Amino acid sequence: MKLPIVQYGDPVLRAKGKRIEEVTDQVRELAANMLETMHEANGVGLAAQQIGEPLQMTVLDISAVEDRPSTLRLDGQEVDPASAMPLVLLNPALELHEETVVGLEGCLSFPEITADIERAESVVVRAETLDQQLIKIEASGLLARALQHEIDHLNGILFIDRMNSAAKAALASRLKRLQKEFSRA
Ligand SMILES: [Zn+2]
Repeated sequence: MKLPIVQYGDPVLRAKGKRIEEVTDQVRELAANMLETMHEANGVGLAAQQIGEPLQMTVLDISAVEDRPSTLRLDGQEVDPASAMPLVLLNPALELHEETVVGLEGCLSFPEITADIERAESVVVRAETLDQQLIKIEASGLLARALQHEIDHLNGILFIDRMNSAAKAALASRLKRLQKEFSRA
């Protein structure tokens, strides 16, 4: 089932996600609904906060993006990133590599807003799957960027927090408008 995506202004986007201790039918259903919602919206990632649930769960799928490459090692094995999609990650822990890169980002909770954001070029993520397997993801490129963006969401951090002050200033009136729309709704 496709779910409504929470827009900027809703305080749930600032909530830190609760750990998922047990994969219940409810968690599985939520994951399926998040995948459907992300795919319908042509997003590459969606965090539980964005459908109004402050939980440590995110879904990702970068397979439809052809012009921004990624690499992926899954439990130490080099794999074709597209073939490993979609990912459903529970309770992810993120390690950043030092080297950074600037790239364009958008967010399904910020309609029509994009900005260049500096992020680590590659990351290591340890997370649980819906089968309660612990997996290790080593990623670079778009997938590394998407993982950082989504795991930020799980901690209540938004991509506007990562923008430089000039980019944020340029967006200030649009952000204010979004916040006002939320308080009217
Ligand atoms: Zn986002």
